[in-house]
Amino acid sequence: MSVNVQKAALRKHLLEKRDATSAELRNISSKKIHLNLRQNTSFTNSQNIACYFPIGSEIDTSDIMLDILQQNKNLLLPKIINDNIEFYVVPNLEKLEKGSFEIMEPKDSCKKAAEINCVLIPTVGVSKAGIRLGYGKGYYDRFLSSTNAVKISLTYSKQIVKSIPSDSHDIKIDWIVTEDENIKIS
Ligand code: ADP
Ligand code: MG
Repeated sequence: MSVNVQKAALRKHLLEKRDATSAELRNISSKKIHLNLRQNTSFTNSQNIACYFPIGSEIDTSDIMLDILQQNKNLLLPKIINDNIEFYVVPNLEKLEKGSFEIMEPKDSCKKAAEINCVLIPTVGVSKAGIRLGYGKGYYDRFLSSTNAVKISLTYSKQIVKSIPSDSHDIKIDWIVTEDENIKIS
């Protein structure tokens, strides 16, 4: 079986599992992940933080985004431009509008991020070797291949799997933050 076919099967299974999370558990897990993130110096020492506007059963980043803004740090959110993911500085959440895939994106008035210290990444599945499974479009792999930012996967513990088939283009993440712990990838 090719890596792509194996990834597709694992992605389907893990998305079904993630989508089965109740709204209550999602809220509780998201709040715990926020608290764990606040213990992570790669996050707390960063001034320019790339986050994402949550969709579906993804970890809800609302509190994290507000936290970043309240601390007068730069909140960076993504926009898909010519099939690439680009990050823009979002001074407040009113500077967002519906964009690609019905996801809230920075308005045109937002400035492009000049510097990114840390990037919080939505995750379908991840292994403790640092291989991350996304939605299968490779947006984050393309972006992560050209940044020195610390890469932090936000995920439910149940989305961590023993191993994930990987391609040479898959960029390893540095940290996994779950509702239970901060895991540093060695
Ligand atoms: P995901 O990381 O979203 O789970 P994949 O890792 O399977 O998805 O990547 C999906 C596709 O994105 C790949 O088949 C590949 O064509 C493309 N891709 C990913 N990274 C790159 C890259 N650095 N350069 C060119 N194409 C890439
Ligand atoms: Mg990938």
